[in-house]
Amino acid sequence: MLVGQLKEIEIFQSLPEEILDQLVSVSKTIHLDANETLFEEGEAGASIFIILKGRLGLFKENQEIALLWQGQFFGEMAVIEEKPRSATIIASCESQLLEIPQEVFYSLLNKHYDFLLSVLKTMCQRARGSIQDLALGYQKIRAQEQLSTQLNQIIDSSPSEILIFDYPSGRLVRANTAAIHGIGYLHNELHKLTLLDILKDIPLDEFTAKMDSLISGKNGTLNFRTVVQRKNGNENPTEVIIHPMGHATESLFLAIFKGEQTSHAASLNQSLNNNYDALTGLPNRNLVNDRIQFFQAYAERHDALFTIIVLDIDNFKTLNEALGPQAGDELLKLVAKRLVQYLRKEDTVARMGSDEFLLLLILKEEQDASRMAKKLLQMFEGAFVVGNEEVRVSVSLGISMYPHDGHDPVTLLLGADAAMHRAKEQGKSTFQFYNASLLTRAANQLKIENALYRALEQEEFVLYYQPKVSTADFKIMGVEALLRWQHPERGLVPPGEFIPIAESSRLIIPLGEWILETACKAIQEWSTYKLEHLSVAVNISGYQFNHSNLLQTLEQILNKTKIFPGHLELELTETILLDDSKGSMDRIHQLREMGVQLAIDDFGTGYSSLTYLRDLPVHNLKIDRSFVHNIQHERNLAIIQAIITLAQTLKLKTIAEGVENEDERELLNNLNCDQIQGYLFCRPIPFDEISRMLKESSGS
Ligand code: C2E
Ligand code: CA
Ligand code: CA
Repeated sequence: MLVGQLKEIEIFQSLPEEILDQLVSVSKTIHLDANETLFEEGEAGASIFIILKGRLGLFKENQEIALLWQGQFFGEMAVIEEKPRSATIIASCESQLLEIPQEVFYSLLNKHYDFLLSVLKTMCQRARGSIQDLALGYQKIRAQEQLSTQLNQIIDSSPSEILIFDYPSGRLVRANTAAIHGIGYLHNELHKLTLLDILKDIPLDEFTAKMDSLISGKNGTLNFRTVVQRKNGNENPTEVIIHPMGHATESLFLAIFKGEQTSHAASLNQSLNNNYDALTGLPNRNLVNDRIQFFQAYAERHDALFTIIVLDIDNFKTLNEALGPQAGDELLKLVAKRLVQYLRKEDTVARMGSDEFLLLLILKEEQDASRMAKKLLQMFEGAFVVGNEEVRVSVSLGISMYPHDGHDPVTLLLGADAAMHRAKEQGKSTFQFYNASLLTRAANQLKIENALYRALEQEEFVLYYQPKVSTADFKIMGVEALLRWQHPERGLVPPGEFIPIAESSRLIIPLGEWILETACKAIQEWSTYKLEHLSVAVNISGYQFNHSNLLQTLEQILNKTKIFPGHLELELTETILLDDSKGSMDRIHQLREMGVQLAIDDFGTGYSSLTYLRDLPVHNLKIDRSFVHNIQHERNLAIIQAIITLAQTLKLKTIAEGVENEDERELLNNLNCDQIQGYLFCRPIPFDEISRMLKESSGS
C-alpha cells in the first residue's frame, strides 16, 4: 500500500507525510471478498479499520443498519473502551481496509488534533445511544421533514387548482401553482382571503351546512358546483371537491376545483407535453393524473378496485454517493425494468422523481393490495448487477386504495405518499397503508406554519435571556437570548416546537431579523450598566445563515442601535461552520471583521468533519447539554475533557450548557471549563428580570 492512497482519504489529509509513512509500515492491509465477515458483534478486538476501497454493511442482530464506504472508519469504540465489538461487519463487495492497531492509534491520537477530532466526532455521535437509535431517529426526522415538502410537491404538481383552507374561519392557508396562476392572487394576497371570497354562488349558511355534514362524518368528501371568481373579474362555473386533510374533525381542508381549464392551465399543460421520463422511459409525473382518472373510470365500469403504491428506494442518496451517479442511474433503470417485467400489462408504472416510483394496479379484492406489497418487497431481495458489482436495495411502499381512501387523484396520491413516509419511519423495507391520521400530521405542520406567520404580525414572540456565568465564582459573563412564543391560548411555547417549521417555511428570515434587532436593543439599554465584558448571544439557524442577507441586516441593526459589536455574539452550529463552501467561509470571516463574537453551539452533536476547526475564526465553544447531563458517565467525562483540551490549544473559551447541579459544576471546574450556563444558576428569564439581575451584578 502507498502513502498516496492514504492521502485520498479525508481523515488522513491532516497528517504529515512522515506519519503516513510510519502508518503504512506498521499497519496491515486487509482484503475481503464480497459477503466475507470481518468481525462479529461481541468479538474482542483492538484495531480501528479504515475503508480504502469497497463497501461494508454494518449489522446488528442480523439486520443491516448502515452502509460504510470508502474513507469511513469504524471499530474505534472497541479500541477506546476496550469492550467487545458492538456490531457485525460484512463486506458488501470486494473491499480493502487498513487496520490500525491500538498502540499505533494512541501514538497518533496524542499528537494530531485533526485526526483526534475526526475520531472524537464519531465517538460523540455514538455516545448518544446505539447506532440503530441514531439511524432510526434520523430517518424519522428526515421522513417528517420530507412529508410536508412532498405533500406540497404533489399538490403543486397537480394540474387542478387546489386551495387549502382553515375551517370554520374559511381563511386560505395555501394554494398550489395552478391555483395561483388560475385564480390570479399571489401567496400573500391569498392569506388575507377566505374561501367564500372566491366561491361566489354559495351562501354562507349553505356552505356551513355542507361543511357540518362533512365534519360530522356523514360524507367523506363534499362535492358541489359553484362559480369561482378570479382576480381579473372572470367568473367560471366550477365543480368543487372538499376533502379534509386528515380527520374530518381537523380544521384544514383541501378545496379542489375541477373547472373547465383556464387558458393558462391549458397552456401550462401543453408545455408539459413531455410525458415520459428520459432515463427509464416510464411515464412521468405529468401523466399520472390522467392515468389515475383512467383507472378510476375503469374501476367504476367494472366494479373493481385499484390501488396506488408509491415505491421509494431506501437510502438511495447514500447508495448513489457510494456508487457514483452513473451507476446510480443504471440502478434506477434496472429497478424500472424489474418493475415493468413483474407487473401485468394493464398495470402502470411511472417514475415520480429521483428514486420514487408509482404503481397503479387493478385489484379484485382489498387483500390483494398487501399481497402485492409483500411480493414487491420480495422482488427486491434479489441483487441488481450494476457494472460488475452486485447491489442490493430495499424499498419502502405506501399504499392507498380507490375508492376506500379517496375519489380524486390528488387525495389518493397524497395518501399513498404519506403512507410511504410512514413506512420509512418504521425502519424501511416495509409497507404501510394510508390512514387519515397521516394527513393530520401534515395538516398540523401547516397549521403551525400559518399560526407562526400571524404570531409575527401580532407580535407574539418574546426573547428570554439566560445568564452564562464563570464556573469558578458564578460571575455573570454574558446572556443568551432564547426565543419564546407567547401563544394566546397555549401560553409560552418553547422554540423546539416551532423553529424547525419556521425554517422550512422561511419565516425564520423575518423572525431572525426581529430577534437580532430585539437583542441589540437590549444591549443598547444595558450599555448604561457598565458591564464592559458582557456578551449577548443570539442563535442563528442554518437556513437563516445561508439564505438571508445576514451581513447587511446586521450592519443596519448595528448602525441603528449604535452598540459596540463586541457585545454581540452569534451562536452558529457545526453544520454552518463546517460548510466549507467559499460563500459560507467568506461570510464567517466578514462577520468576524465586523467585530461580533462567534461561538460554536451544541459542540459535539454535528455530523460533519471537524478537520477545519483550527482554521475557523470563532472565539467560544459551547459544549452540548447531552454530554454535560451525564457527566458522571466516564465516557462523557472523557469527551468533555478532550473537548476542553482541544479548545485550550486552539485558544477557545469553553461554555458548558445545561449545568443543573453543583456536582456537575465542580467536575467542570476541575476540568477548567471557563463558563457554565444552566438551571443551576438561572433559567431563561424575561427582559425585565434579567435587566434587574444585570444591574445588581454591575453594582450600578
Ligand atoms: P440551544 O441554543 O442549545 O439553547 C439552550 C437550550 O437549553 C435552551 O432551550 C435552554 O432553555 C435550555 N437549557 C438551559 N439550561 C438548561 C438546563 O440546565 N437544563 C436543561 N434541560 N435545559 C437547559 P430552549 O430555550 O428551549 O431552546 C431550544 C433551542 O431552540 C436552542 O437550543 C436553539 O437551538 C433554538 N433557539 C432558541 N432561541 C432561538 C433563536 O432566537 N433563534 C434560533 N435560530 N434558534 C433558537
Ligand atoms: Ca444556543
Ligand atoms: Ca446549545
